[in-house]
Amino acid sequence: MTAYLIKNVAILGGAPTDLLLEDGVVASIGAGVSADGAEVIDATGLIALPGLVDLHTHLREPGREDAETVESGTQAAALGGFTAVHAMANTEPVADTAGVVEQVWRLGREAGYCDVYPVGAVTVGLAGTQLAELGAMADSAARVRVFSDDGKCVSDAVLMRRALEYVKAFDGVIAQHAQEPRLTEGAQMNEGDLSGRLGLAGWPAVAEEAIIARDCLLAAHVGSRLHVCHVSTAGSVEIVRWAKSKGWNVTAEACPHHLLLTDELAASYNPIYKVNPPLRTAADGEALRAGLADGTIDIVATDHAPHPHEDKDCEWAAAAFGMLGLETALSIVQETMVDPGLLDWAGVADRMSYAPARIGRVSDHGRPIEQGAPANVVLYDPSVRRTVEPSESASLSRNTPYAGMELPGRVVATFLRGTATVLDGKLQ
Ligand SMILES: [Zn+2]
Repeated sequence: MTAYLIKNVAILGGAPTDLLLEDGVVASIGAGVSADGAEVIDATGLIALPGLVDLHTHLREPGREDAETVESGTQAAALGGFTAVHAMANTEPVADTAGVVEQVWRLGREAGYCDVYPVGAVTVGLAGTQLAELGAMADSAARVRVFSDDGKCVSDAVLMRRALEYVKAFDGVIAQHAQEPRLTEGAQMNEGDLSGRLGLAGWPAVAEEAIIARDCLLAAHVGSRLHVCHVSTAGSVEIVRWAKSKGWNVTAEACPHHLLLTDELAASYNPIYKVNPPLRTAADGEALRAGLADGTIDIVATDHAPHPHEDKDCEWAAAAFGMLGLETALSIVQETMVDPGLLDWAGVADRMSYAPARIGRVSDHGRPIEQGAPANVVLYDPSVRRTVEPSESASLSRNTPYAGMELPGRVVATFLRGTATVLDGKLQ
């Protein structure tokens, strides 16, 4: 196994030092570290971050291998600086049994680009009527701790309560896709003046906020853990802030596209901007960034949602919801949070590595870069700018809303337990 001596690297943006990755761990840190036979990387100007952890990735396998596979999705993850991703359960078949979650987990191990932690479905077939076998998935080789019907909301309050109660036995968490179904029937974009002008059915903020408020109350009532997926409105941030002020065990995520993009892009009628929950107003984006900065929003999660071109290259109302996210997430966090001074690199390590690993109960990832820790490390160059070129993506899909956009930063290398999955910006 190759050892890597990384020279002059700024860990979390701090003073340059040397970092030796050997035998799968961070072997030593400090100026002047030497190691015979190690491959030397000149990291002058580069920042080292702990390997990123995504709590919300759609890998599409099994069932939609035309859109993404575990292999292609984890390649995209490695290129984006991730060493672990949580794979959402809305596959075909749905990941609602020990058999399916073990299959996804095994595919991740075989691909080897980053660790894959399957998310188990909350209800059988995501149908929202009967609890899935949460305990069997938790006890399986995949050791599932995060459960979600993402793509759909667990809208039945009794089922949501039972799920929250059930996962307490094994320290699990319910990750809710907060979308009141009756308030969003046929909804296409954020409800506001613009949806009226464009003639697209509106998706009101209250459809998200009402479910989040209800679920915070339910989680508090049964003393369980709730995680709120893809918070998109200023009102949702306020509700999460209130729940946390009560001391309730509620965590929340924001997605890069909601930090950067706004609903005005829908005026193009280009379905590349169609996503669930929808792009919101500039004021909502500002509230999300403030919430992420002050810790009300715990993490950034990508909601990487690949779709083949036939599901996106059609009229807005017929197009699928979702956009790619893994390869651009860190750049967008730099653009929206670091460069404006809202978050430093230690804050990025927390929101994109430590906190998501903690919420997902993943112990091998999300650890500070210190001697003896697993060598899950990303090297990032914040000084360059690049233009997003969809054809360069490792994803099998091309539905990135950032095509042609100039973004800051570039992932130079990603190490998974000391093995380079990306070097010089290229997959290994
Ligand atoms: Zn969702």
